[in-house]
Amino acid sequence: MPTPEQLAAQAKKIVQRSQRQLFLVQIADEAKLRRLYRDSLKKVNAKILMLKDFPKHLERIQDDLEKEIARLSKRATTVIEGSNKSAIKLGIHSSVDSMILYKKGFPTNFKVRLDSEAFSRVFTQAVRAASVPIENISLSGRVWDINRIALEDLNRHLARAMAQGRSMSEITQEIRRFLIFPDADLRKKKWRLFIKQNPPGRGVYRSASKNLQRVLRTESNRAFRLGAAEYAKEKKWVKGVKWNLSPGHPEPDVCDELSHSNYYGLGEGIFTADSVPDSPHPHCICFTTMVVKDKYLPK
Ligand SMILES: [Zn+2]
Repeated sequence: MPTPEQLAAQAKKIVQRSQRQLFLVQIADEAKLRRLYRDSLKKVNAKILMLKDFPKHLERIQDDLEKEIARLSKRATTVIEGSNKSAIKLGIHSSVDSMILYKKGFPTNFKVRLDSEAFSRVFTQAVRAASVPIENISLSGRVWDINRIALEDLNRHLARAMAQGRSMSEITQEIRRFLIFPDADLRKKKWRLFIKQNPPGRGVYRSASKNLQRVLRTESNRAFRLGAAEYAKEKKWVKGVKWNLSPGHPEPDVCDELSHSNYYGLGEGIFTADSVPDSPHPHCICFTTMVVKDKYLPK
């Protein structure tokens, strides 16, 4: 019979294995987001290339651009919601798998596995928890905020470039940067000037697409933990949920504190199932494991 420590280590490995699967899902969903942006960019550029009579047509084009970006935002939100659902499923399944390890110590009436009814109940609760706004901003609101900033930059740039009488092909090339990828070559004078005119928020210039990939990752990592937490809430043998730092954790942050503090008197880094921290920082890839009550552990 393995010791409780060995069981906990095995359970942790199971969750980490699922987390690696989650990262593959995220990569695939990020590719979906990039495709959406590329498609939108094509439409935006087609509109701009049709722009002949400046400034008469500029306003109308800007209306069209806004409509296109609104459509893009809606589609991107759907991609992220889908990614969250996949993450929740992985979170629930890995919780079940990790608890099967402990089954020998449980009374026979404890149900570790979920039948389809129980699964859909836990899943629905987790989906609901994942859709709770973060700092009062819903997911669709956050997506729109990011795209709206890109749209404003884009409109400003367009008006200025047109007033300067620059060529349409040059303008459409530049517009790529706002939406897609900051692959600007900073050794080139053209891009140095571009960055100067469109100052980055902090550090590096990030396109809307890049920012949204960050939202997707942060949301989906959170959804993975929420799936596990909703499972834990249902199971009376669970003492608490342990916050684990990811091995690739770069530098000390709020998560070191979360994983070491004993807030609930349950042990280091252990939270009650309904008080698991939400999403302490962007890109947080900390994961949670379930802690079984002492009386059900092998003696
Ligand atoms: Zn973290």
